[in-house]
Amino acid sequence: MPDIIQLLPDNIANQIAAGEVIQRPASAVKELLENAVDAGATEIKLIVNDAGKALIQVIDNGKGMSETDARMSFERHATSKIKNIDDLFHIKTMGFRGEALASIAAVSQVELKSKKAEDITGTCIEIDNSVVKKQEPVAMQQGTSIAMKNLFFNVPARRNFLKSNPSELRHIVDEFIRVSMAFPAIFFSLTSNGQQVFHLESGTLKQRIVQILGNSYNAKLVSVQEQSDYMNIYGFVGKPETAKKTRGDQYFFVNSRFIKSAYLNHAVMGAFDEMIAKDSFPMYTLFIDLDPAQIDINVHPTKQEIKFEDEKIVYAFVKSAVKHALAQFSITPTLDFELDSSIQHLDAVTKPFTDERKSSAASSSLYNTFTQKNQAHFIENKSELKHWKDLYEPAKGESGILNASIESEIVEPIINRDPGFVSLQSFISQPAMSLEYLTQLHNTYIVVQNDAGFMVIHQQNAHERILYERFIKAVEGKPIAIQQNLFPITMELTAMDVVIVTELLPELHLLGYHLEPFGNNTFVIQGTPADVDQGNEKTAIEKMLEQFKHFSADLKYSKREKLFRSLAWQQAVKGGTSLTQKEMKILVEDLFACTAPNITPNGKPTYTSFKKNELDKMFGR
Ligand code: ADP
Ligand code: MG
Repeated sequence: MPDIIQLLPDNIANQIAAGEVIQRPASAVKELLENAVDAGATEIKLIVNDAGKALIQVIDNGKGMSETDARMSFERHATSKIKNIDDLFHIKTMGFRGEALASIAAVSQVELKSKKAEDITGTCIEIDNSVVKKQEPVAMQQGTSIAMKNLFFNVPARRNFLKSNPSELRHIVDEFIRVSMAFPAIFFSLTSNGQQVFHLESGTLKQRIVQILGNSYNAKLVSVQEQSDYMNIYGFVGKPETAKKTRGDQYFFVNSRFIKSAYLNHAVMGAFDEMIAKDSFPMYTLFIDLDPAQIDINVHPTKQEIKFEDEKIVYAFVKSAVKHALAQFSITPTLDFELDSSIQHLDAVTKPFTDERKSSAASSSLYNTFTQKNQAHFIENKSELKHWKDLYEPAKGESGILNASIESEIVEPIINRDPGFVSLQSFISQPAMSLEYLTQLHNTYIVVQNDAGFMVIHQQNAHERILYERFIKAVEGKPIAIQQNLFPITMELTAMDVVIVTELLPELHLLGYHLEPFGNNTFVIQGTPADVDQGNEKTAIEKMLEQFKHFSADLKYSKREKLFRSLAWQQAVKGGTSLTQKEMKILVEDLFACTAPNITPNGKPTYTSFKKNELDKMFGR
C-alpha cells in the first residue's frame, strides 16, 4: 500500500483556516474596521458594493505600514500586537491573532495601500488567492486603504452559501454599528453602492447613540456611571418609556469590544424591574472597563461571548449601577402632576375616610347588593362552580374536535404548528350561526349564538387570524385594497430600518404598502392598505418594523412569515375597541371563512364555545 498522507498546499490550508475568521462579508468588515481602530485612525470610511460580495473597502488615516510590514501583514500569524504569551493577558487592541489579513487574502482579491507619516511614498500591494501579484510605490496620504474584491471568488461553495444582499448588508450594518458605537471620538462613514448610509461625525457617546439609533432617544437617555478599583462602568440606558418590543438596541462593550452576554443583560433587566412591561426591552449602551487579566481573552475572537474571572461581581456591579442611575433620574420629573383644583375641594379628597363614613357607606343598599348572601352574583360554595366548568368541557358529537384543540392550546400554545393544518374539519362542523344581532362584551368579546349554544369570540385574536390569512393570499396574487395618499407622506428611518424596509419592499408592496426610497434614509409612502387609518400610516409602519425585529430573533420563521405575523399583530383591532354591528358581523364571517379559524398565527385561541345542552342541565332542564 502506498503512503497516503500529504501536506495541503498553502493556499488550500489558508482557505480552510480563513473559513473560521471570514464567514461572510460582515466578518471581513469587522476585522478591517478593527485594524483601522488599532492603527489609531481618527477617520474611518467603509465602502461596500453588493453587500460586500463585490467590494469591501476600508480607508483610514491611521499610522500606516512600512513597505516590509505591508508585505508581512498578509502572512498567517503575522501581528504587531503581541510578542509573547504574557502579552495575551494585557491586550488593549481589538485584534491580536494576526489571522485576519491572511484570511482575507486567501478568499478574495486584495489591494492594499499604506503609508506611514514619515515615509515619502506609500506601498501598493495586490494579492490574489494568497499570491502577491504586484507591489509598487504609490503616492498617498498617511494611512491605509484595504480593498477586497469578489469575496469567496475561489470558494464557490461558500459564495453560494451567502444570503441575499439585503440580509448580508444587515449583518454589515450590525458590525459597523458595534465598532462605531464603541469609538464615538472617531469619524465613521458607511457607503453602500455609492449611497451614504451612515455619516457619523466624531463626538460624545451620547451624540453617537442618537446618530445611530435615531433622534427619538434625544433627551431620553439616562447616564450610567460608576467607578471602583475593580471595574468601571459608564454609558447610557434609555428611559423606561423608550423600551421596545425588540431586543436589539442593546450594546455591551467590555474594554471597547462588543460582547453578547445573556447574563449581564439579565442584570440590566433586573435593574429596570417593574419600570417596564415584562415583554419589552430597554435600550442600553454600556461600557465596562476592567483589567484585561480579569477576562479570558482566549475565547475565540470571532465569538462575542466572554468569560469573566468573577462573573458575580460584574453582574452585581452592572445591576446596581443601572438601578442607581434610574433612581436618580426618576426623583425629579415624576412628581409634576397635580390634582385638578376642583377635585381637590371635594369631601372625598379633603376629609379622611372615618369609621362613621365607612359604616354609612356600608349600610347603603348598593353596598348590600354586592355583599349579601343570596344575591345573584353571590357564590357561597365552590361546588356550585362545577357546572360552569362543564360548559368548557368538550361536548360529545359535532364540534368536539374544535373544543379539544382549543383546550390543549390554552395549556400549551402551538407556536410551531402549521396554521393551516388544524381545523378545516372544525370549520365544516361549525353549527349554523345567527348573525342578526351580535353582542359585544367589554369592547373585547363578541357573543354569537349558534344552534348548539353560543360562542365568545376574542375580537383581536380573531382579527389577527383574518389578516394573517389575507396576507398569505395577497402574496399569492389576491390583491389587497389600498388607498393612495393624495399628499404622499415622507418618513425618515434609522439606517438599520432602511436596510430592513429595503429588504421587505417587494412583499410590502404586495401587502398594500407602497413605499419608495427617496434617498437620505427617507421613504415616501405612496399608498397604504385601505384599513390603515389615514394619518396613521407612519405609526403603522414603525410599529410593524418594531414587531418585525421582535420576530427577527426567531430563526425558525421565514422573512415572509415574520412580516405576516408582524402586520397581523400590528393591524388587528385591539381589545377595548367598540365595534358596530356591521363590523362585528364582517369579523365573524371573515373569521369562519379562514382555513384555521380557531387560533391566531401564534396559537392563541380565537373563540370558545358554550353548549346549550350544558346550560339546560345547569338549570335542571
Ligand atoms: P491582528 O490585527 O490580529 O494583528 P491582522 O491580520 O488583522 O492581525 O493584521 C496584521 C497586522 O497588519 C496588524 O498587526 C497590523 O500591524 C497591520 N495592520 C493591519 N491593518 C492595518 C491598518 N489599517 N493600519 C496599520 N496597520 C495595519
Ligand atoms: Mg486585525
